[in-house]
Amino acid sequence: MRIRAAVLREPGRPVAVEEVELDGPQADEVLVRVAAAGVCHSDVHLADGVLGNGRWPMVLGHEGAGVVEAVGERVTHVAPGDRVAFSFVPSCGSCRSCRAGRRNLCEPAGRNALAGMLMDGTSRLRGAGGEVLQHGLMTACFAERTVVAAAGAVPLEAGIPLWQAALLGCGVVTGAGAVRNTAGVRLGDSVAVIGCGGVGLQVVAAAGLAGAGRVVAVDRDRAKLELALARGATDAVDVSDEENMVKRIRAAAGGGLDWAFEVIGRPSTMRLAWDVLRPGGTAIVVGLAPVGVEVSLPAIEFLSEKSIKGCFYGSTDVADELPRLARLVASGRLPLADVISRVTGLDGVDDALERLRRGEGARTVIVMDRELAQAPELVA
Ligand SMILES: [Zn+2]
Ligand SMILES: [Zn+2]
Repeated sequence: MRIRAAVLREPGRPVAVEEVELDGPQADEVLVRVAAAGVCHSDVHLADGVLGNGRWPMVLGHEGAGVVEAVGERVTHVAPGDRVAFSFVPSCGSCRSCRAGRRNLCEPAGRNALAGMLMDGTSRLRGAGGEVLQHGLMTACFAERTVVAAAGAVPLEAGIPLWQAALLGCGVVTGAGAVRNTAGVRLGDSVAVIGCGGVGLQVVAAAGLAGAGRVVAVDRDRAKLELALARGATDAVDVSDEENMVKRIRAAAGGGLDWAFEVIGRPSTMRLAWDVLRPGGTAIVVGLAPVGVEVSLPAIEFLSEKSIKGCFYGSTDVADELPRLARLVASGRLPLADVISRVTGLDGVDDALERLRRGEGARTVIVMDRELAQAPELVA
């Protein structure tokens, strides 16, 4: 079938909407009519070509929600008409990582995502000239329709409009999972969140829900800090002036912190996360850094049992965790509408990427079908 989709042709060129060809689902796949999709900083990294060569041409978009239109013959967990959110790690369940209970690290899912293919190593997408297009992180949801692996379509209960559910599959799962699974924040712990964009604001809210005693939001944008305070941060530290920032963050928490979440992906902020820790504290790196970036730490401080830990996709089984988080959203305990700074149409993808490059706003949501998404008025 013919669909409209936002295609990355090559880094440095605007991401433009094209008519592309989408094949129907194979036995273990699902065809979804996309209602809405969130624009994430990883999309900027892909569009800028800093996640490695050969990752184009590609239909971008890895966080979204929609309604199932057709399923392959072996798919039983969803049926046409079901509302779903996407998971960009449709774990296989049988590789070494999956068997060890670390489904976010599924090996075939990782390999195929890097290649831009579905789980059988092939693509359902072709450009107007018949050339193969990659599926962005196995999701490719900056498009009117998409075909995903069965495990990439996670059923949603009623209760959340799809323009908000669009954020569940990357920002919410990553942010909440970093707090609950990668870290394991406990009642009364002190937490710093360095970078309060689309994912950082989810870390802030989840740390509050986990009962952290202090949640120190750190950013250089006043509006994002205000939003963090409204989402449960106890303190905000503006680092647009970098003077004494380590001291100021530690002072806000009444001393070194138990946890510091880095949600930007830069060596300087990873180092900042390390520097604000108390002895025995842990820095969690959630931010995605371009290929080739290195970080350095004062090794003597390993003596104080500080740790630094990586985090991918909330260290979780998304099929299990996403519906739990959706319930928190539906009950009003984890609001999402406030982090959506802009709602626009498919033609607004490139503009949304540009806004993220400038650090403007938290999350843009691309709405493909306003009625299906139950979305407010779109801005051009
Ligand atoms: Zn993302
Ligand atoms: Zn696996």
